[in-house]
Amino acid sequence: MSKLKTLQPRLKAIDTRRLKPVYGEDRRVSGSARVGLKRRVYVRDLGHCCMCDRVVDLCDSELDHRIALQFGGNNAEANLWTLCIPCHAAKSAREASEGRPDDEALKYPVPGAYDNGGIVGI
Ligand SMILES: [Zn+2]
Repeated sequence: MSKLKTLQPRLKAIDTRRLKPVYGEDRRVSGSARVGLKRRVYVRDLGHCCMCDRVVDLCDSELDHRIALQFGGNNAEANLWTLCIPCHAAKSAREASEGRPDDEALKYPVPGAYDNGGIVGI
């Protein structure tokens, strides 16, 4: 036990907020802004998972970046959609193992993203 005590002070809490600073548009949305955004996207998606089309409750759904921020996606609503928990987990796992945007997810459009005459990203 005495050894443990001497090791203990060396363990410092890491402030993860400082590890990967991302500023501006590509910053991860959090807090109340995220709650509002999730609700808005959920309403736009008519309470359906955008991949399997299953009806999901707001609290059982997940706001997801179709193209993850780490792969160059942004926080525009044209890149955000509602997923059910199983679809989101599977998509995240594929992205993590392949290290690139998920091909399966890219087969599905973001609802309402084509309301600009087919031009995405405006
Ligand atoms: Zn789903």
